[in-house]
Amino acid sequence: MPSDRTSDFAREIAAVRETALKIAALNERFEKLHPRDIIEEAVQDPFFGKMAVVSSFGAESAVLLHLVASVRPETPVLLIDTLKLFGETLQYQNRLQHSLGLEDVRICAPRKRDIEHHDPLGTLSASDPDKCCRIRKTDVLDRGLAPFDSWMNGRKRFQSSVRSVMSIVERDGTHIKLTPLANWSAEQIKAYHKEHELPPHPLLSRGYGSIGCYPCTSKVEEGEDDRSGRWRGLDKTECGIHR
Ligand code: SF4
Repeated sequence: MPSDRTSDFAREIAAVRETALKIAALNERFEKLHPRDIIEEAVQDPFFGKMAVVSSFGAESAVLLHLVASVRPETPVLLIDTLKLFGETLQYQNRLQHSLGLEDVRICAPRKRDIEHHDPLGTLSASDPDKCCRIRKTDVLDRGLAPFDSWMNGRKRFQSSVRSVMSIVERDGTHIKLTPLANWSAEQIKAYHKEHELPPHPLLSRGYGSIGCYPCTSKVEEGEDDRSGRWRGLDKTECGIHR
């Protein structure tokens, strides 16, 4: 007769397998759908449970936020405010929130005691950017996502080689992660922006491509990849939010 521990383990394995099969089936279906249909199906599917959107309110964020607002405007939207964001990003957040009718935007910031302990001079981004991203972004995201079962994000496969292989639905630790725009091209994003007359991030017209924290974001030159302005000169391409 199996012990309790053996049966617990068997149950756990069965649950993991079931989740993996469901994710595979969703990915097969979602690859053929428009992002709006993906979002519509996901918010109604109990598999995703309580869902939030995580947005940087950056250069291309308006597209996902517009889609979410058109499907379910009460969806919680989390902005991780690292306390190192451009003032223009916070103004843009305010503008988009009101123009799109997003009803539940939550600003998640690092704990004062963590900043005082690990980055009292505010210069950690220069000496240890990975640690800075952990304190100011990933730990904050973990706390912000704690009440939720799943989250949506706006990454696209065309943005980088790391992102080129991501799935629309993934497991992310204890959460399910949904990336409805994964297979959209840069042209489709631009066309959607234009069709819906979405306001651009104010820094785009000043030469920025991808917009994050001000110490780690620089302008991009003609012909450069948009994300090349992030952590320029470092062997770092992601903040750690997308593990
Ligand atoms: S992007 Fe730069 S400033 Fe922002 S959290 Fe990461 S290292 Fe710190």
